[in-house]
Amino acid sequence: METIILKADKNNIKTVTDKAAEIIKQGGLVAFPTETVYGLGGNGLDPKAAKKIYEAKGRPSDNPLILHISSPEQLTPLVKEIPQSSKKLMEHFWPGPLTLIFKKSDRVPLETTGGLDTVAVRFPENYIAREFISACGVPIAAPSANSSGRPSPTRASHVEFDLKGKIDMIIDGGHCEFGLESTIVDLSSDKPCLLRPGSITVEMLKDVLGDIDIDKAVLTKLENGERPKAPGMKYTHYSPSANVIIVRGSDENVIAKINSMIAHMDKGLKTGVIASKETKDRYRADEVLVTGSRQDPAEIASNLFKMLRKCDYHNIDIVFAEGLPENELGLAIMNRLKKAAGYEIYDV
Ligand code: AMP
Ligand code: MG
Repeated sequence: METIILKADKNNIKTVTDKAAEIIKQGGLVAFPTETVYGLGGNGLDPKAAKKIYEAKGRPSDNPLILHISSPEQLTPLVKEIPQSSKKLMEHFWPGPLTLIFKKSDRVPLETTGGLDTVAVRFPENYIAREFISACGVPIAAPSANSSGRPSPTRASHVEFDLKGKIDMIIDGGHCEFGLESTIVDLSSDKPCLLRPGSITVEMLKDVLGDIDIDKAVLTKLENGERPKAPGMKYTHYSPSANVIIVRGSDENVIAKINSMIAHMDKGLKTGVIASKETKDRYRADEVLVTGSRQDPAEIASNLFKMLRKCDYHNIDIVFAEGLPENELGLAIMNRLKKAAGYEIYDV
């Protein structure tokens, strides 16, 4: 299949999104930018489009898709009820990087929700995403536009690398502002529960809701037999081919431990470090990949997946990543890093 790739900006957006909407109406797939990561979109009410999405990504079909809408009014027909707590969250954080889980209505096919009776919905802020969804006239089912298991795409080139030839179109809207997938909050049972951390932090959610539960899968590796509430959280994720190892502790201890592990490594192996601007010059690895400044966790978040992808680009065998404190945005960054590392962490 030929994949059309078109750059979109303020001047040509209508032409590009009209073409993309035509493809969606014919049952095809279009990757598009959002403020979190690129999404792989199909008609959210069409079971066949859902099937195509799973196939293109190589995604297990029990891992549900998020429905993206272009105005809050589009939510009502998709859900059984809109609880009070969700109204507050929508007021504060929509449009934006927050996905909410509701009891689904009969209009939403089980193929889209991976067989669940709940549905995940997000109203993104990115103007290209909104114009595209609005031109389609239906909710757009969209997981991250990467091959299953790989780091999520934050540039059109990442989507092209993973999915060229497997999907109809890629809308190139530049790099994604936040760079981590949306925060997910489940509102389908009595107490709101965080299923996936993101750029809307636990601290921000607590300011609005008072309190919120945190699903165990957000913080730790689940034991055999334990199930996360977001089915996707059980899969290995974000992995470059390199073996990823997190080292956590004071700066001096982390630098010393990583340099010592590198010094003892088989000379045939290519080493990397995912580091901050403040520490980058202290490492003796083959490649040092800089995510951003410790003073600016948002910069680190927005570059993390790009750096995980760079590990493959540089054919790195083992990459050490500096751990971060797990508060505010650090919780989401560490959640992605831990999954990339298969929870291999040294505390020093
Ligand atoms: P992705 O689109 O790749 O960011 O993945 C979407 C995430 O949302 C996965 O972790 C899914 O398991 C989760 N998700 C989607 N729908 C639901 C739902 N109805 N209940 C719980 N988790 C969901
Ligand atoms: Mg994903």
